[in-house]
Order: sequence, then C-alpha cells, then structure tokens
Amino acid sequence: MANKKKVLPPAVQHVQPYLEGVAKSLVDRIYGPKGLPWGTKLTELEDVVIAVREVLSEKMLAQALERQAQTAEQRPETFRKCARCSGPVEAKPDPEPRNVQTRVGEAEWDEPHCYCRKCRQAFFPSEPESGH
Ligand SMILES: [Zn+2]
Repeated sequence: MANKKKVLPPAVQHVQPYLEGVAKSLVDRIYGPKGLPWGTKLTELEDVVIAVREVLSEKMLAQALERQAQTAEQRPETFRKCARCSGPVEAKPDPEPRNVQTRVGEAEWDEPHCYCRKCRQAFFPSEPESGH
C-alpha cells in the first residue's frame, strides 16, 4: 500500500499490530475470506467503515472515562479540591450519567460528582471547571 505514513502517538504505536489484526478480522467477519463482493460501491464500503469507526470511538471513550470515574476515590490531591476556591469538597458517591460531545462522537459514562458548600456548586472531578 502506498499510503503516507502518519506518525502515531506512542500509545497507539504500541497497539498498532493488534489494530491491524482487528481490521483483518472485521473484513473477515463482515465480507468473508473473499473480501468485498464484486459490484459493491466504494461508498457502501465507506459507510461500513464509518459505522465501525463510530462504534469503536464511542466504546473507547465510554470505557476510558467510565474506568477513570470508578477510581474517583483514589484520584490525586489536585482533583480533590474545588476549582473555584480550592476548598474541600464533599463527594457525592452516586454516579450520575454524563454525556459529552467529542470530536470523535458522543461520550457517555457515569461519574460520581463533588459538591463545594462554600461555592454552592456541584462539579465532576474529571472536569472541575464545568459550571452547572
Ligand atoms: Zn468552592
């Protein structure tokens, strides 16, 4: 393949062989060993690739953020204080659903929030600046 080599972030370089295996396996599962059936339009292939990318993107966002949220109890000191007044915050352990639009799709996960009594403001530890 004569594609221009992109410089991948080290974290992705690390899993590149795995990703290439996943791509191969997806083609196998979707189209079988002979690949794209003759007569299939390139735009149809594009639609399938876009849909796969969407599922992968949204699952990765959800997994990474959900797992981080589950370690909220062990988060570093800098994430334990109020972003406005630097005062102590109360942990509200009941996770709340979060939904954030990102460059690669919608991120959906549950995260416990914090509350600052002084500022009378609730916020999420992963995003202390969010004003709501
Ligand atoms: Zn505060």
